[in-house]
Amino acid sequence: ARPVLEVSGLSTSFFTDNGVVPSVDGVSFDLREGETLGIVGESGSGKSVTTLSIMGLIEPPGRIVQGEIRFRGENLLQLDAERMRRIRGRDIAMIFQEPLTALNPVFRIGRQIEEMLLTHTAMSKEEAKRETLSLLKKVMIPRPESVYEAYPHELSGGMRQRAMIAMAIACKPSVLIADEPTTALDVSIQAQVIRLMKDLIRSEGGSILLITHDLGVVAELADRVAVMYAGQIVEQCDVFTLFRSPKHPYTQGLLKSTPQLFGQPDTLESIDGSVPNPLFLPPGCRFHPRCAYATDDCRTKRPELNEIGPGHLARCLLAEREAAAAGS
Ligand code: SF4
Ligand code: MG
Repeated sequence: ARPVLEVSGLSTSFFTDNGVVPSVDGVSFDLREGETLGIVGESGSGKSVTTLSIMGLIEPPGRIVQGEIRFRGENLLQLDAERMRRIRGRDIAMIFQEPLTALNPVFRIGRQIEEMLLTHTAMSKEEAKRETLSLLKKVMIPRPESVYEAYPHELSGGMRQRAMIAMAIACKPSVLIADEPTTALDVSIQAQVIRLMKDLIRSEGGSILLITHDLGVVAELADRVAVMYAGQIVEQCDVFTLFRSPKHPYTQGLLKSTPQLFGQPDTLESIDGSVPNPLFLPPGCRFHPRCAYATDDCRTKRPELNEIGPGHLARCLLAEREAAAAGS
């Protein structure tokens, strides 16, 4: 499938009083037509900054210092603010972790979704109202008429999340960015929202960029996955390969620390250490202080993101050596 979104060599830094924080450092990926690409990482890995860069929502002291973000071939970084505003919402929409950041507290839900339709489509007021009620039904809100009249604070967290999803899909965006779409929800509601997103993926056919720290959500929804660590992609492959034969030690550690997928909580084996302070990144491989396989090479050489198998990329000297040995 053709890529609808192409991110290449994206670097976004924050220029703070303490120094330059390279939050996103040379990130490249394609989002293809109709696919769901998961971007996985711990907080501080740069995954949210990547999505904010795509949405054109990086504010000072942050700045995109390098790279290209192409939507259907057009470089978003060269668009003026007005054109970007039109693309945002209509072509590229976003579901945030906390619906209250996306919903305006002083307007009724129905009015907000209608606004979206009136701004970005040629619908009349009556058509927009009809479409809004049908969207609320589509996200499985039990009494669409009463939610239509409600203010955001009058709804439960789960209902608010559905209303935000309804608003995000209102203009049938070709790219939906979902940043931790289920993290703020109760476990029971998480499952419902995941099922809802699955149905939407199947029925609407758009592409989804799914940002999460939760590999369970990735297993449910994603076709391909990029794993981020300390501002860089460290592994990228299809979702089956990720769970069956992860090659980067960081990915392996993440999988072991996801108990709901692999065994009981008493076998939980988390990764020692923590994400490095981006102001003081370790030399060599950024993961080496936490890596059980680190060698002297790892402490001095910077691994590149290289293809170690068909469609399988990893940024690891060991994975490269193994791939070379297997291929020779
Ligand atoms: Fe570990 Fe070395 Fe691979 Fe880095 S390059 S992940 S330190 S084995
Ligand atoms: Mg985040």
